[in-house]
Order: sequence, then C-alpha cells, then structure tokens
Amino acid sequence: MQLKSLTMNGFKSFADKTTLHFSEGMTGVIGPNGSGKSNITEAIRWAMGEQSAKSLRGERMPDVIFAGTALRKPLNRAEVTLTFDNSDHYFPKMPDEVTVTRRLFRNGESEFYLNQKACRLRDIVDLFMDSGLGRESFSIISQGRVEEIFNSKPENRRGIIEEAAGVLKYKQKKKQAEKE
Ligand code: ATP
Ligand code: MG
Repeated sequence: MQLKSLTMNGFKSFADKTTLHFSEGMTGVIGPNGSGKSNITEAIRWAMGEQSAKSLRGERMPDVIFAGTALRKPLNRAEVTLTFDNSDHYFPKMPDEVTVTRRLFRNGESEFYLNQKACRLRDIVDLFMDSGLGRESFSIISQGRVEEIFNSKPENRRGIIEEAAGVLKYKQKKKQAEKE
C-alpha cells in the first residue's frame, strides 16, 4: 500500500486545487517557514478522519477552510482526497486503487467518500484503524510530538509503539469481546 497522491482544494493555505504525486521511496518536502509544509501532513490526517480541530492548530473544524488573504476572498469549503495504491491488498476487500475524500462546508456540514461513494466518518476511521494507520496513530508525527514520545512514561510509549505496529486494534477487539 502506498499513498500515491494527495489533492487539496480550499484546505488551509491551499486555496487552489493542488495535487501532489508521491513516487516510491521517501519524499521530502522543503520550503520556507509558513509555506505550508505542515498543512500538507495535516491535510493527510484530516482526510484520514482527524476530529480534533486543536490538533490541526485550529479552534473549530471550519478553521481548516481557506480563510482568505488581503488579495483573496475566503472560500466556503475545503476538500482533500487521498489516493492509495492498494495492488498489494493492504486494505482487504478493497479495489487496487482506494480513494478517500473529506469535504467540509463553512456551515459545518461535512461529507466523506470512500472510492467516490458517500460514506460515514466511521467507515473512514475503521479503514485506517484496521490497517494500523489510525487517527491517533504515531505513523504521522507532527512537530512537537517527537518530544512527547520521548518524555512519555514507558507504558504510554509502549501504547504508541503498539498503535504504530497495528497491535492496538487486536487489543480493542479483545476488550470488546470480553465485554460481550
Ligand atoms: P514551518 O517551517 O514554520 O513549520 P510550514 O511550511 O510548516 O512552516 P505551515 O504551518 O504548514 O508552514 O503553514 C502556515 C501557513 O498556512 C500560514 O501562512 C497560515 O497563514 C496559513 N494558513 C493556515 N490556515 C489557513 C487557512 N485556514 N486559510 C489560509 N491560510 C492558512
Ligand atoms: Mg511546519
């Protein structure tokens, strides 16, 4: 499984529709301070179902919508699409190419799509949770969180590693089964 491309439209500083294509191997993003590097990783996390506006450096979720500049009016919606190469069927029971889209309007209305079909936030969250790339996962580490990992207690650090390794879903399933 590989993230093939990311399309942002009206997300934070990406007012115009912008598509980034990722090739195999490692990708580095470079640019001056404030040019939007962190916004790129936030777009990825947002499309994967992030529900905390604070963790996206906002107060409310509509803060991710392009807020305008001196020369440009604010927009009314943000949209992000992730396209994954799934030819190895990392996401089981899914086509060779998987797309996930999240759209949010200023009035708070939001839409989610899995392979171009409308779905619930839950479906997106489950897709990534089952793949070990969950919303809270440390597969994506933002600025500042590195310190958080090093300063955390050993048992918490263990949780972080388990989440990244994809063990957490089994623990949660076990807990659920014990309850039932
Ligand atoms: P650094 O190197 O300092 O980490 P960076 O490249 O990671 O910088 P970002 O933090 O991704 O930069 O981008 C910050 C820019 O995004 C700021 O100029 C900010 O005004 C802009 N920005 C954030 N949210 C919005 C929004 N909703 N609408 C328009 N612009 C936004
Ligand atoms: Mg940054």
